[in-house]
Amino acid sequence: MPRPSASRAVALPAPATARDFSRRLRAWFRKHGRDLPWRRTRDPYHVLVSELMLQQTQVSRVIDYYARFLERFPSLHHLAASSQTHVVEAWEGLGYYARARNLHELALRVTRDGDGTLPGDPAALRELPGVGAYTAGAVASFAFEARAELVDTNVARVLARVFAPRLRPKQPRDLTQLWRLAEAVLPQRGNTAWTHNQALMELGALVCTARARHCPRCPVQRLCATRQAELRKETKAGAPSRRPRSTTRAAARAANR
Ligand code: SF4
Repeated sequence: MPRPSASRAVALPAPATARDFSRRLRAWFRKHGRDLPWRRTRDPYHVLVSELMLQQTQVSRVIDYYARFLERFPSLHHLAASSQTHVVEAWEGLGYYARARNLHELALRVTRDGDGTLPGDPAALRELPGVGAYTAGAVASFAFEARAELVDTNVARVLARVFAPRLRPKQPRDLTQLWRLAEAVLPQRGNTAWTHNQALMELGALVCTARARHCPRCPVQRLCATRQAELRKETKAGAPSRRPRSTTRAAARAANR
């Protein structure tokens, strides 16, 4: 008889822990977060363009493309009025051209079937071409300041390391657990959730990266399961071995001479 598979459901943090986590994260972000152009806007189209460009692409590369693209196509209407060839041309050099083709298709759909504006609800956003769960959450949170959770590779890594080190973000079943965690630690108010989500992504980009963990300067190290386990290990390894009492006294007498 096959054994029932072990449940991988993670225990969600207590509300007080979730609040503490978010508070530390947001305080850190206010001090250390980068001033990026897409963080200065709440225009849904601009946020969408930035999110699509940032997929698989470094921030430093995206900054110039983002400004040039929006100069050439300032709105979804401008984008819909252009040919796909021109849109892909403006994307030239960023790679992953399906993103540009999907964006053009999205502009056509939104202007043809609706009033040319993007919806603020993640479920409605997900109906649009090229918009997955992460992008839907990002546009809802960063443009509409909706209380919407989001999980990309950076967020998945941070949440797993802090709350559930046994989870493997690349496994679909574990990823579902990370979405649950993302929702559980999200503040109630939409504008606070905006800062929280930006901070979580920023921590994954600057401090808790795929290549290195900079735990000593991390704002959530006291709550982090990975860090705390590491510290316990270090303490154990560095603890003096127990000696018989007489030996210790003898050593003390020798030291006092
Ligand atoms: S303490 Fe270390 S492992 Fe934990 S979130 Fe911070 S950088 Fe990542």
